[in-house]
Amino acid sequence: MSPLIEKLKRIFKLEAELGYTNKAVVGGLDKFLPSWISEAQIVHLKDELIQAVVIRINQYRLLDQEERALLLNEIIELLQTAIHNSQDIGQPKKEYKQRFTKQNQPSNSPQAQEESTQFNQTQARSFSNVDTDKSPGLNAPLTVLHGIGPRNAQSLEPLGLKTLEDLLYYFPRRYDDFSQLKPINRIQYGEELTILGTIQSITSRPVRGGQIQIVEAVLSDGTGFLRLTWFNQPWLVNRLPHGTQIIVSGKIDMYLGRLVINSPEWEPLDQDHLHTNRIVPVYSLSSNVTQRWLRKMMHQTVSFWAPRVPDYLPESIRSAADLTTLSNALRQIHFPDSMDQLNAARARLAFDEILFLQLGVLSQKRSWQSVSAQIFSVSDDWLNELLASLPFTLTDAQQKVLAETRVDLSSGSPMNRLLQGDVGSGKTVIAALAVAIIAQNGAQSAIMAPTSILAEQHYRTFSRLLSDVLCPEEISLLLGDTPESEKRTIRAGLADGSIKLVIGTHALIEDPVDFQRLQLAVIDEQHRFGVSQRSILRSKGENPHLLVMTATPIPRSLALTIYGDLDLSVMDQMPFGRLPVETHVLHPLERERAYQLVRSQIALGQQAFIIYPLVEQGDREESKAAVEEHARLQKEIFPKYRLGLVHGRLKPEEKESAMVKFRDGEYQILISTSVVEVGVDVPNATVMIIEGANRFGLAQLHQFRGRVGRGSAQSFCLLIPETENALENERLATMEATNDGFVLAEKDLQQRGPGDFLGTRQSGFLDLRMANLTDIRLIEKARTQAQRLFEQDPDLTAPEHQPLVASFRRYWGNGRGDMS
Ligand code: ADP
Ligand code: MG
Repeated sequence: MSPLIEKLKRIFKLEAELGYTNKAVVGGLDKFLPSWISEAQIVHLKDELIQAVVIRINQYRLLDQEERALLLNEIIELLQTAIHNSQDIGQPKKEYKQRFTKQNQPSNSPQAQEESTQFNQTQARSFSNVDTDKSPGLNAPLTVLHGIGPRNAQSLEPLGLKTLEDLLYYFPRRYDDFSQLKPINRIQYGEELTILGTIQSITSRPVRGGQIQIVEAVLSDGTGFLRLTWFNQPWLVNRLPHGTQIIVSGKIDMYLGRLVINSPEWEPLDQDHLHTNRIVPVYSLSSNVTQRWLRKMMHQTVSFWAPRVPDYLPESIRSAADLTTLSNALRQIHFPDSMDQLNAARARLAFDEILFLQLGVLSQKRSWQSVSAQIFSVSDDWLNELLASLPFTLTDAQQKVLAETRVDLSSGSPMNRLLQGDVGSGKTVIAALAVAIIAQNGAQSAIMAPTSILAEQHYRTFSRLLSDVLCPEEISLLLGDTPESEKRTIRAGLADGSIKLVIGTHALIEDPVDFQRLQLAVIDEQHRFGVSQRSILRSKGENPHLLVMTATPIPRSLALTIYGDLDLSVMDQMPFGRLPVETHVLHPLERERAYQLVRSQIALGQQAFIIYPLVEQGDREESKAAVEEHARLQKEIFPKYRLGLVHGRLKPEEKESAMVKFRDGEYQILISTSVVEVGVDVPNATVMIIEGANRFGLAQLHQFRGRVGRGSAQSFCLLIPETENALENERLATMEATNDGFVLAEKDLQQRGPGDFLGTRQSGFLDLRMANLTDIRLIEKARTQAQRLFEQDPDLTAPEHQPLVASFRRYWGNGRGDMS
C-alpha cells in the first residue's frame, strides 16, 4: 500500500489519540499539506484526489470533534477506494500520463497541439487549486466538500450548482429574520415580514367559472389570526392540514378590512429555526435537497471559502465607492450578522454587476470611437432653408437633437446615437434631416423599419419632406414582396450610387444589397430588431453613422445601463397644439359607455381600436379572446360597422393587410391583441379601448394610447380592468393623470422591474442577481467608477486592474449579449 496513505494514517491516528484537538501536527493538521502534496504529485496521484484531501484538511480547524473524526475517516476511505478501483497511484491512467508528460512529447498534428494547450491550462488551474497559499480553487467540483458525495452533487445540479463558486454565488431567495419575529397582533398593513403560526383552517374554492382555484387558510399564533391566500395551488389543502406549523413571509395586504398575505412564501417549521435567533437565509431548492441541509453546506462552504476569495476590485474603487470587500459581501449575503451588513453585502454585489455592465458598454463605445468616420457638414443657411420648407416649425426638443446630430456627423468618428422620444414626438423628421445632410454631401442612407406598413409610411413622409433635396428617383422602397425585377433595379441603383436613400424592412439586410457609399444607417423602432440585424445593416457601409430611434421611453437609469454604449438624445416635448389624449379608467360594468363613445366618434367620421390582452399563456388563447370578441362585437354591438381583426396567429401579410384596410378607412374599428403595430400613423383614429388593462404595464398602455391622438381631433383612451382591485385601479389612474411616457416608464420600472423594457439585446441583463435597475444612485456610482477607470487606464493594461479585467471578461464571456 502506498506510503502516502500510511503517512496520513499515522498522523490521523495520533490526532485521534489527542482527542481531535488539531495538535497531531505542530500548528495544525493543514501544515503537513505542502510536503504531502509534493509527494502525491511525484506518484501521480489524481489531482482531483489531491484536491479533495487538501480541501478537507483545510476545513479541519472549523469543525467540532465529532465532525473531525468523521472527516479523517472519510479521507482515508476516499484514498483507499481510489486505490482499489484503479491504478490511480503509481500507475497513472493514460489520460494522466498524457496530462503530466505532455510537454516532453513531440506533437505534430494541430489537434494534438490544441489538446496540449488545453491540458496545460487544466494543469495550471489544478495546481493553483492545490496550492494552499494562493487563490483557492473555486472551480473545484462540489464533491470536494465534506458531506457532498456524487449523489448529493447530482441533486444540486438542477440548481445550476456544480462548483464551489456556483455555491458561493447561489444567493438566498429571501431571509427569515428570527431575531425579530412579529406576533400577528402587532403586524401592520404594508409590512413585509415573516410570521410563525399554526394553520387553523384551509379550504380551496374555484372562482371565475373554475378558471382559478383560490386556497384560503387562516393562520394563528395565539395573538391573532391572519388570512393567507394562494392562487391555483389546490394541493396546498393537503400539504398544510389543520394544525401544521409553518413559517410564512410576504407583504401584508388588506382585503375587506382584514389583513391578508397574498401568495405568501412558506415552509414547514423546522425546530432548528426556533433556536437560531438570527437572520436565516432561505434558498431555492430542488426536489432532492432540503433547506436545512443546503443551509448547512452553505455555512460550511461560506465560512471557509468566502474569506479566501480574492477581491478583484482595486482598493481605489472600493474605497471611492464605499464598498465592503468581496469576502465580507459573500459571507454576509448568506449569513448576515445584521440587516445593515446584509445591505452592505447587497450593495457591493450589485455594484459589481452594474460595473461589469458598464465596463462592457463603455469598452464597446471606445471601440466604436476608435475608428474614424467621414465628416458631413452643411452650412447654417442651407439648413435654415431646408427647415423653412418643412410643413411645421421644429420643437425646441427637435432643435436640440438636430444640433446634436449635426455635431456627430461632422465629428470624424461614427455617430452612435439613440434617439428616444415619446410616440408622436416627431422623430421621423430628425432622421429625414440627417439623411438630407448625408445626401447633400453625395453619400447614401438606409432606413430600416420593422414592418412594410411602417416602411411605406416612411417612404411617403421622406419623399415629401426631402423633395427639395432628393428627386423621386433617388429615393426607393425595398420590401420583402417588392417584385424581383424592381428589386434588381434598386440594387443596381444602390450599387452605382444613383439611389441616395433606401427605405425598407428586413429585406434590406436579408437580400444581397450592396451600397456604393452607405454613410448613414437609421433604425426605426429599434426594440423590434435584434442586435445582429443592426450590425448587419451597419456593416453594409464603411464605419457609417448610426441613428437608432425608439418610442419606448426608457427610464434614464436603465438607459445608462443598457444603452451606455450609445449617446442618448431625448425628445421630451410634443409638437405644439397636440391635444392630450383624454384617458379614463372604466368600471368593468361601464363597458356600454365605451361602446357608446365609439358609436358617436364613428358618426363623426372617426375610427377606433379595441385591444385585448393575453389571457392565458400561449398565443392560442390570446388570439381566441380577440377572435371571439371580434365575432361578438360585430354581431351584437356594432352590426352596422366593419370590424377588422389582428392577432398574433395571423401571417405577417394578413396582419399588414388588416392594418392597411384600417388605415385606409375600410374598417371603422380594429380589434387587436397586443400585436397592434407600433409607429403606424392613423390620424383618423380617436378612440382606444383597452380591455384587461390591468394586465399591461403602464409603458405598454402608453404605447397603445399613442396610436390615437395623432390628428387634430380630441382623442380618447378608455382603460377597462377586469376586476375592481383598488390598488390596480390606482396604478391605472396614473394613466389618467399624465401623458408623459417617461413618468409612466419610471413608475413601471419601479412596479414591474426592467423586464418590459428589455428586448432581444438585453436578455442577458435579466441575469442580474443583485442589482436593481431602478436604483439610479447605484448605477451612477458604478458608471462614474467605470469612466474613471477608463480615464486612468484607457486600455485596461495596468497590473492592478488585471484581476478586475479578468472577472469582467468572464462575466461577458458567459453568454451575455454581444453588443452592438
Ligand atoms: P414619432 O416620434 O412617433 O415617430 P412622427 O415622426 O411620426 O412621430 O411624428 C408624428 C406626427 O407629428 C407626424 O404627423 C409629424 O408630421 C408631426 N410632427 C412632427 N414634428 C412636428 C412639429 N414640430 N410640429 C408639428 N407637427 C409635427
Ligand atoms: Mg415613428
